[in-house]
Amino acid sequence: MKRHLGHDLLTLAGMPALTLLVYYLWVCVEFHQGRLVLPSADDLARIPAPTLESVSIFAFWLVFQALLQIFAPGKWQEGQPLADGTRLRYRMNGWTSFCVSIGLFYLAVVLQWIPRSLLYEHFGALLTTANLFAYAFSLLLYLSERKERRTGRFSCDYFLGVTLNPRLGNFDWKFFLESRPGLIGWVLINFSLAAEQQIRNDGVLTTPMCLVFAFQFLYVADYFWHEEAILTTWDIRHENLGWMLVWGNLVWVPFTFTLQAYYLVSHTHELPWWGTAGLVGLNLLGYVIFRGANWQKHQFRKNPEAPIWGRKPKFIRTQHGSLLLTSGWWGIARHMNYLGDLLMGLAWCLPCLFERPLPYFYFVYFLTLLLLRQRRDHEACREKYGQDWDAYCGKVRWRIVPYVY
Ligand code: NDP
Repeated sequence: MKRHLGHDLLTLAGMPALTLLVYYLWVCVEFHQGRLVLPSADDLARIPAPTLESVSIFAFWLVFQALLQIFAPGKWQEGQPLADGTRLRYRMNGWTSFCVSIGLFYLAVVLQWIPRSLLYEHFGALLTTANLFAYAFSLLLYLSERKERRTGRFSCDYFLGVTLNPRLGNFDWKFFLESRPGLIGWVLINFSLAAEQQIRNDGVLTTPMCLVFAFQFLYVADYFWHEEAILTTWDIRHENLGWMLVWGNLVWVPFTFTLQAYYLVSHTHELPWWGTAGLVGLNLLGYVIFRGANWQKHQFRKNPEAPIWGRKPKFIRTQHGSLLLTSGWWGIARHMNYLGDLLMGLAWCLPCLFERPLPYFYFVYFLTLLLLRQRRDHEACREKYGQDWDAYCGKVRWRIVPYVY
């Protein structure tokens, strides 16, 4: 009971604290040139109310993405088996939705229907609008009829959600919110931030801005190209849809992952050629490891005979029935995919150079997240596979970084 109370209070305090943190980062980058200041009363007063424009943009965006999810072409794919043995079907049309969204936004800019820096101009009000929507929608989910995974404790049920797969007919809310509005929105906000830099900088786009834009564009495009991989992720398989996922995907992702590009709007330094080449190399290295490791596992689980790096794969056959791959990237460390992701994250921050710590927020957050995630995954696998997992850890010693960790 006492443990629950502490946990509940932490959850209740955590939600506004995270919300304030996002505003704080925005105030620092917009009004203090990226300096991490002690917030004053003036700064608090800077938190904007939603505007008619921000509500219209946000509503249009959600409806547009929902329509794309419903009508855009894409093959249907079955998800992992649920507890009752059935499988849900998902339409894999993320790539089409991504291309159509980017293409139409670009067309609207070229035809001057919207200003190219639109999302920069309304960033603050959009942040408030997205927040209000996320809190209200999470409440709706909490109040919904289906409460198959209710704990009875408000903070927990509101924060983590009460339903694994809330759906309206074939429309899956979690699958939708996991990527469509937030990830595509991230790219479009970056576009507007780059445009704002160009406007302020006499038409010149700096190399750091081009790098950040290109690296993050590649990351999101790659996500949608390999969209079916989302069906085996922890979030889709095990996490309910509640505040954590709704807010995380609608507020945290688009409004904090854009911090580097935002910072570069008012920091227009250039890079030497070798710096640019080094950053491109670092991002590519991260991408090759990240994509290679995730792809090897995906392929191996589909066909354990398929060669890895030109050889027959080695693996441990567990008593549970699953096979644990010990070849390729999975023979070097147990989470090389995390290492690749982290290297890319670093390549997104380094173009901002070292004048301020704020652009490194993403890397610090992501490192913390993946370290915690690795531990959680390790415990879950140990429970699931028992001695077989210990044997696997004996064979593949390193967790994330070979010879370091
Ligand atoms: P993994 O893709 O590493 O999946 C872990 C699961 O894979 C384990 O629970 C186990 O599941 C299975 N597994 C573990 N070892 C092996 C093995 N040797 N052979 C075969 N299967 C194995 O972790 P995540 O789902 O956490 O991450 C996926 C990707 O998403 C990563 O690249 C990560 O960096 C990225 N990510 C990005 C985030 C972001 O915010 N940008 C957030 C979180 C992750 P089982 O055996 O039960 O199937």
